[in-house]
Amino acid sequence: MTAALPIRHNFPLRHLNTFGIDAQAHAYLPVTSNTMLDIIRRDAQWSTMPRLVLGGGSNLILTGDYPGLVLHMATQGIAVIAEDQRFTYVKAAAGENWHRFVLWTLDHGMGGLENLSLIPGSVGAAPIQNIGAYGVEIKDCFHALTAYDFKSGELLTLNAADCGFAYRDSIFKHAFRDRAVILDVTFALPKQWQANLQYADVAQELASSGIATPSPSQVSDAVIAIRARKLPDPAKIGNAGSFFKNPVVSREQRDALLTQHAQLVSYAQADGTFKLAAGWLIDQCGWKGKTLGAAGVYEKQALVLVNRGGAKGRDVTRLAEAIQADVMARFSVRLEPEPVFV
Ligand SMILES: Cc1cc2nc3c(=O)[nH]c(=O)nc-3n(C[C@H](O)[C@H](O)[C@H](O)COP(=O)(O)OP(=O)(O)OC[C@H]3O[C@@H](n4cnc5c(N)ncnc54)[C@H](O)[C@@H]3O)c2cc1C
Repeated sequence: MTAALPIRHNFPLRHLNTFGIDAQAHAYLPVTSNTMLDIIRRDAQWSTMPRLVLGGGSNLILTGDYPGLVLHMATQGIAVIAEDQRFTYVKAAAGENWHRFVLWTLDHGMGGLENLSLIPGSVGAAPIQNIGAYGVEIKDCFHALTAYDFKSGELLTLNAADCGFAYRDSIFKHAFRDRAVILDVTFALPKQWQANLQYADVAQELASSGIATPSPSQVSDAVIAIRARKLPDPAKIGNAGSFFKNPVVSREQRDALLTQHAQLVSYAQADGTFKLAAGWLIDQCGWKGKTLGAAGVYEKQALVLVNRGGAKGRDVTRLAEAIQADVMARFSVRLEPEPVFV
């Protein structure tokens, strides 16, 4: 049955991961329909092979050639599926590009996702780490998703509570890891929209353009301008965005750190803990702009690791481990990588 599927062998992945790591997949399938997944699951050969679901490749580090089947989500489609007094419900297929989807909602007069403009990757991957930026996470506008369960072969409909969203985290990194393939995501976009300007950067960017009461598109433009200044464009410099999560520590640990490091950057969380700025910790260890092998730390933002040219997975791992060791030695804080190592 799989003879009908366009599976390719020894397929190059360099252009399918934003870090630009040169590796290849044993087998590769662009998934253009959900039934393709069912065919794979029922096939004796393919169902037993390791599987990697791939979106835009912007949150993973390839540590070597992939020994199994890469399922590259390429399904398309965006539609308004319902509305009520408070929300418009918009559904997008997993393979849609996230930023193009955000622009589509804005072009159709819907606010809610503008702070998440210009995040690379696909719609289907957005729930995996509950993507977030400038004070908004997708959980804030999330309604439901459909996933294919490779274990049972069934379609699952999950709401926000089912997904277990947390800071850069969800059930898809735990119980549903290697099991659920997200097929589509539905967002509830508010009809009574209010700008979220809690991040000073966004408020300042708008103020500097003389905009006092911004529209959703104007907030999006501001976010795009800030991101373009701060983050390297993966099309020019290979990278996977923020490489480490901001570590969360107790009040006691944060107070103890403050006595030794008066400039420590931390943000109070609703539950009484504190989020530390990982970029600041890395910068204090002198890593900004440094290079180790073919990987390095971005000159303008210490939280971003970059490909200096021809980086292999082991270059990235070595650099990440060296940074983690220095931050641990200096601050007794463990940095946890954000991208998935494959
Ligand atoms: C320059 C840059 C800036 C970034 N800025 C941000 C930011 O501000 N905020 C933020 O949160 N992230 C940010 N990221 C990280 C990244 O863009 C997001 O995590 C994005 O959601 C990853 O999408 P992707 O399609 O590229 O996923 P991939 O890298 O292809 O996959 C990531 C993980 O999700 C799994 N996966 C992908 N699609 C599916 C699916 N349909 N079903 C099940 N599993 C799936 C993969 O198997 C893998 O484990 C940034 C990255 C870059 C390069």
